[in-house]
Amino acid sequence: MKLFFSPDQLRHRPQQYFRFGKVGVPVENPERMETLAEALGALGLDRRPPEDHGLDPILAVHDADYVRFLETIWGLWQTLPDAGPEILPNIHPYRGAGHDLIRRDRPRNTGPIGLTGYHVGDMSCAMGEGTWAAAYASAQSAISGARAILAGERNAFALCRPPGHHCYRDRANGFCFLNNAAIAAELLRTRFDRVAILDFDTHHGDGTQAIFYARGDVMVASCHTDPTDYYPFFAGFADERGAGEGEGANLNLPLAQGADDSAYLDAVKGLTRAVSDFGAEALVISAGWDAHRSDPLSRLAVSSDAFPRIGELLARLGLPSLIVQEGGYSLAAIAEAAPSFTTAFLGAHR
Ligand SMILES: [Zn+2]
Repeated sequence: MKLFFSPDQLRHRPQQYFRFGKVGVPVENPERMETLAEALGALGLDRRPPEDHGLDPILAVHDADYVRFLETIWGLWQTLPDAGPEILPNIHPYRGAGHDLIRRDRPRNTGPIGLTGYHVGDMSCAMGEGTWAAAYASAQSAISGARAILAGERNAFALCRPPGHHCYRDRANGFCFLNNAAIAAELLRTRFDRVAILDFDTHHGDGTQAIFYARGDVMVASCHTDPTDYYPFFAGFADERGAGEGEGANLNLPLAQGADDSAYLDAVKGLTRAVSDFGAEALVISAGWDAHRSDPLSRLAVSSDAFPRIGELLARLGLPSLIVQEGGYSLAAIAEAAPSFTTAFLGAHR
């Protein structure tokens, strides 16, 4: 199995993470990718840097204005008097403001504060000088993985970092700047009529859901911690089933806080049944290891034993599959979960 990642993905080095009313140390750090690359590399996977496939596959999912924002905001931020060391929003548009400025699908703003407020959804997306290069390289890893599947490989692993599933078509959120899984799924659609994204990260992939919510050709199926009192808070509920042509092509299986291996595995089984019923011809797996009970963000009681079981369940779908790395913030847990998942997946994948 080919494993794609680029050293450029390490260039995003956030220094601040605002949570619980205080600024702390970011848990989404370059060490995660180094740990995963080493742990997965030890399995003998075919490690290689992604090729540069340009902006087109990214622009098939993301708004051009937003991509331009990501590319240029670092330079613009430096024009602020006494600019801070990183780009962080200090104002956001309000949906109830009731005037055209908010309802437009693109901002009128030209300055760094308004643009950042419009395009960055929360305080977990501190951006530095290397953030765009890293997000771009991360997306290229997903694109290269999807292209490997298009070229006939049965499976591939895109070691994406920064992750992607919280990112909307025009908005960064939750450590995510480009939606790698969505970009890969859209690319797979060029050959496969029906593509499913199955997401077992402990957080609901709100960005992925929104991107495909009205689409009947890409299913999004996710199990995650109940968002009633957990990130991303405003999406991921069971009654979100898709809209229009996408009605029925979105499945959320929220898990109660404290859920154990058996509840988590039952939910994943539910997702695989839905993917099968949907008639998916290719699969994108949004793989997060942060349901693990040792993860600093986890509210579940999932153990290391769950991940190889999930690998086996997903492999048994028998679909061409691209694994896309999402969350997982305990270095010890990810060093165990990612390789054991991958080994079990490869052992059962036909
Ligand atoms: Zn997560």
